[in-house]
Order: sequence, then structure tokens, then C-alpha cells
Amino acid sequence: MKVRAPSADSRYSEVRELIHGSSLHTICEEARCPNIAECWGRGTATFQILGDTCTRACRYCYVTSGAPGPVDPLEPLRLAQAAKDMGLKHVVVTSVDRDDLPDRGAGHYAATIRALKAKLPEATIEVLTPDFLGVEEQALDTVLAERPDVFNHNIETVRRLHPRMRGAKASFDGALGLLRQAKERAGYPVLTKSGIIVGLGEENGEVVETMRDLREAGVDVITIGQYLQPSAKHAKIDRWVHPDEFRWFREQGEALGFGSVFSGPLVRSSYRADEQQRAAAVSAR
Ligand code: SF4
Repeated sequence: MKVRAPSADSRYSEVRELIHGSSLHTICEEARCPNIAECWGRGTATFQILGDTCTRACRYCYVTSGAPGPVDPLEPLRLAQAAKDMGLKHVVVTSVDRDDLPDRGAGHYAATIRALKAKLPEATIEVLTPDFLGVEEQALDTVLAERPDVFNHNIETVRRLHPRMRGAKASFDGALGLLRQAKERAGYPVLTKSGIIVGLGEENGEVVETMRDLREAGVDVITIGQYLQPSAKHAKIDRWVHPDEFRWFREQGEALGFGSVFSGPLVRSSYRADEQQRAAAVSAR
């Protein structure tokens, strides 16, 4: 696999300065995403709210684990201003898991969506949330009351590997339930979305089974991408999935009725999220 290096004529440096100058975090940097030159070069990024330290420790994820600091109440305003300065038409917001907070961070998501809507009323908004363990319904109601256009929660891997990769707190059925409930509780036509990482030890049939489970939970958009081991401490790569297999996953996903299927080695949950959202919105009409 080859990725681009940042080029001098792209918007990479401008995005970098804006994000660092606004004291914001992005999953692009925190997770060492291989697409950073491409995405930042086209003037997009995925904001990571609620700090840079996660209360979980998934075996594939490079984000720092530990005890997070206090929530910064001004972060939503800085994020909204940065999104406006970047001229974003589709804003993607994700976060670390915050099992330490009574609302698991849902109120901060809501504040961020409100700030974005005030600064950028024309932009569409996508949230890629944690599982809000133990307060799922209240958290969903808090976030969905602000009417994000896309509600995204990654299932990450197939049922069999879920406990090994994600630890005891996360659950495959919990992730499906969150996505199903998001659709049911929204009260407006929210698009729901999820993502699978392949190369962790799953079989292709299990990927299709997971897609089927997601469709049964009403999910509209799916992303499938190759796992890359971020450090020697993380789960090893089990296999390199061939581009033909990614094409096959896309065909299977389309046959199952997803409004948009992005499947390829470098696809990530927020990769070209603006295009995914547009494709799914057209197909939902
Ligand atoms: S794919 Fe997502 S996380 Fe990766 S660089 Fe692009 S916007 Fe950032």
C-alpha cells in the first residue's frame, strides 16, 4: 500500500496550523491514520473531542489509554470556529471513550453539535461516538436531540473476535443495539453508519455476517478497511486483504442494501465522509 506524502501545494500545513493553534485534537493524528496527507491536503480532518486519553484499550487502536483529564467546556466553541475557518461542508466529530463521566461525554457531544450549528448552519454534521456504556438511552437522546445528520458507531470487528480485540467492556450486541436504538429514537431521518476493520483474524464470511447484522439494525452506511498495526504492542496483522476481496465486500454490502459502501485497504470510518454522506443521502431519498 502506498500513501501520499504531504505536498507543498496542498492545504495540509494550513489545516495543521489551524488545529494545533486551536488546541484541538484529531483522530487523524492520535490514531496515526495513513490518510492524513490526503485528507488534510483536501482541507478536511476528523475532530476528536473530550481529550486525548481514552478509558478503554482496544488492541488495534493507537489512541493513548489511561485516566483522562477534565472536560474543556470551551472546546466546542474552538472546534466550531476551526471548522468554519476550514470552510468545512461536512464536519466529523469523534471522541475518546469517557467511562469516567456520568453521561459518558454525551452532553459534550451535544454542546459541540450546537456550537457547530450556530457557526456553520449549512454544514452537515456526523458524530462517531463511543458506546455510552450503561447510559445508552439517555446519551442517545441527548446527542440526537441536536439532530446530527449522521450517527456513526463502529462495530470494529466480527462477533468472534470482538471480546479479544475490544476488551470486556465493549460488546458486539451492544454496538448493534446502539445503532438500532439511534435509528428508532431519533425522531427524524438520521443516517446511521458503522465500520469494520479487516486483517484481525476474521474470515470473509464473518465480515458478510457482520454486514448482515448491521443491515438488520438499520445501518445505512458501512466502511471496511485494512488493519495496520500501529506499534509492536498492538495486535499483529493476521492477513493483507486483497483489493479483489475488498471489491467483493462492496458488492456484498450493496446487495444487502446499504446506501453507501466504502471498502478498500485505506478506507477508514471517516475517510471521505462527505462523499459517503452524500451517496447515502441520495440513496435514502
Ligand atoms: S481517514 Fe479520517 S482519520 Fe484518517 S486522515 Fe482522513 S479524516 Fe482523518
